[in-house]
Amino acid sequence: MTPASAARPLGLGISALGTASYLAAFLPRSQVFGAFPYRGATAERVVALTFDDGPNEPHTSTLLDVLADRGVRATFFQVGRCVERFPSVTRRVVEDGHVLGNHSFSHSFTSYLREPRQQREVQRAQEIMTSVAGVAPALYRPPWLCHWPWVLQTVRAERLQVVSGTFGHPLEVFQPPASMMAAGAAATTRPGSILIFHDGREARGGPRGRSVAAVGPLVDRLRDDGYTFATVDELLGVPAYAA
Ligand SMILES: [Zn+2]
Repeated sequence: MTPASAARPLGLGISALGTASYLAAFLPRSQVFGAFPYRGATAERVVALTFDDGPNEPHTSTLLDVLADRGVRATFFQVGRCVERFPSVTRRVVEDGHVLGNHSFSHSFTSYLREPRQQREVQRAQEIMTSVAGVAPALYRPPWLCHWPWVLQTVRAERLQVVSGTFGHPLEVFQPPASMMAAGAAATTRPGSILIFHDGREARGGPRGRSVAAVGPLVDRLRDDGYTFATVDELLGVPAYAA
């Protein structure tokens, strides 16, 4: 379902201006509905790798091996349903020193219609992650990067920091060759970038081998360019977890 087709059942108005306005809430860098940080404010060559929609096996475990081999810490925005499916993988994310972020319970587009404020989506994922991994995430990335004002209000009310980013490769969903994704992401990277990749697909899993295969070459290339790696909380100067 596209954002445009979803807007109508919500009764949000179908004027050109109204539609454009609500579509703006899906643009990674749009700040029109409130702060939606997509990069860190730094001139230093530091970058945050982020991985959405996991855990999704065997890809997340392979990815964790790649990151461990290279000594890189990343941020994983995981889906509550998937955490229930692969709890030991979520525990390993935290044990390996990565940061675990909340990416909703079901990652369903229609959840924005059933519950547009998204409070239960946020809370259910939070409860599962806390019970599985022993940490309460302080970072939230909304599915589809939807940052309607009422979503941002809910995330704030739940005392979470909302996080956007820059897509590592615009065609990642089609899984082009890993070398293409690595080259594209390296060319996109700027000081303070928060790069978005996917080790899963929504809450359904699916093949992500090429995304994972792109990560090692990307890390090597960025290091050659003088980049170091940070987690999103470090880059934004905010806590990773609730006290
Ligand atoms: Zn997602």
